[in-house]
Amino acid sequence: MIEPEEEDEAETVARAELVMDLRRQNVAGRATLAALESVPRSLFLDAPHKSLAYRDRAAPIDCGQTISQPSVVAMMTEALALEPHMRVLEIGTGSGYQCAILARLAAEVVSVERYRHLSELAAARLAVLKITNVSLHVADGHDGWPAGAPYDRIIVTAATEAIPAALVDQLAPEGILIAPVGPAGGVQELMRCRHGAGGLVGERLADVRFVPLTPGIARIL
Ligand code: SAH
Repeated sequence: MIEPEEEDEAETVARAELVMDLRRQNVAGRATLAALESVPRSLFLDAPHKSLAYRDRAAPIDCGQTISQPSVVAMMTEALALEPHMRVLEIGTGSGYQCAILARLAAEVVSVERYRHLSELAAARLAVLKITNVSLHVADGHDGWPAGAPYDRIIVTAATEAIPAALVDQLAPEGILIAPVGPAGGVQELMRCRHGAGGLVGERLADVRFVPLTPGIARIL
């Protein structure tokens, strides 16, 4: 069980400094930065990696996966242009950190993860923060989560060569989808996409490195 942690002052200061640094980098606006300031990233890291919580870098989590770099979380969140009434689908729950940030800014978040272990850990962490507007599912994110469609926003937090057709189908007509598009193990282009005349049309936001979107539910959970 994960107990609520007494946050010491040093941690609060470290988080505020990270958020100030992100503000200087101009990667996100006020609401996104406030959300980042309100979520203790250390809660989403295991003990050996907690010292990395307020550095602007990715860090290892269980199952060989990673928690994204705070500046990338900030940039992706900002690019979604969330409004408080919106419903969001996230592919790749991972630690649950990005999910917690989304939950602060949107009405409802549905998040899909292929490792049951990660999904359960994320659920426990979100419960510590008393976040209740999230539903987590263990499934293959290539299929999205049709039961909750359409979504105003879709965020894919794993690298894919092509945006899965199911996600395009589940995106609302005026919706925005963000995904790192490119080869596994290399550099991907973070794309912001909308429905266009002949399918999705996208703009390139930045170069990023994500772990791959892997087919199927994990065999070892
Ligand atoms: N958003 C996460 C970062 C996730 S790393 C965070 O804030 O911590 C990418 C995650 O996508 C990993 O947990 C990986 O297991 C998951 N993933 C990879 N392929 C997937 C698939 N097909 N369906 C669902 N999740 C997938």
